[in-house]
Amino acid sequence: MNLFSKISLAAAIACAASLFSLSQVQAQPDPKYGIHDRSRPTPEAIESGYPGTQDKVGKAPSDAIVLFDGTNLDKWVGDNNQPTKWVIKDGAMECVPGSGFIHTKDSFGDCQLHVEWAAPAKVEGDDQGRGNSGVFLGGGRYEVQVLDTYNNKTYADGYASALYGQYPPSVNPIHKPGEWNNYDIIYIAPRFNEDGSLKSPARFTVFFNGVLVQWDRELTGPTGHHVRPPYQKHDIQQPISFQDHGNPVRFRNIWVREINQ
Ligand code: MG
Repeated sequence: MNLFSKISLAAAIACAASLFSLSQVQAQPDPKYGIHDRSRPTPEAIESGYPGTQDKVGKAPSDAIVLFDGTNLDKWVGDNNQPTKWVIKDGAMECVPGSGFIHTKDSFGDCQLHVEWAAPAKVEGDDQGRGNSGVFLGGGRYEVQVLDTYNNKTYADGYASALYGQYPPSVNPIHKPGEWNNYDIIYIAPRFNEDGSLKSPARFTVFFNGVLVQWDRELTGPTGHHVRPPYQKHDIQQPISFQDHGNPVRFRNIWVREINQ
């Protein structure tokens, strides 16, 4: 092997190594499909086996931080730290369309988050316009989609419990409109190097009505619509937020347990 070949070989190895290390931190959703690709197979509807009509609200584990117990919005604020205009009805907080997102006053990093939600019982709209909201981790950056996808077809990476625009859920165990669903989300915040580059991506595991629908997914970056923007350095601890997407979606029994392992 002459010197030039040796240099080429070394360059090829270095390139492969850098690509390998890149692949360690930049996940790539299935490259066969574009963002919001309507030709992508949609999640199969299954029955969760979990009651969607339960009147009795569950309780948080005794060591959890309760974010909403049905009585007040003391731990929440609206956009720009303004008082929220979301309302409490029958022990649930409800999005008032046009009022903006609602955010926790406190910030959280790696955590287990429990959220129960219900789309409006009266079905209005279709596709992404029906019972749309979202659970955002990381200060409004990373969305677990909330959408009434009960007999409502939309693009696969926009289904309820999708990591929006990136990963469809494996199945669709949603309950009927007006019934309660629950998400148990395990979120690992992304880490960044001093220079702002990505050290490790955000990771999500999601149970939807007790069914595992997302297993340790590595996000490509923040949630976007028709885009997958790159990561931008941020603190680990960030508020948890729910989206106002123009539909009066309700939430209840919201609690979080921080992961300190
Ligand atoms: Mg949404």
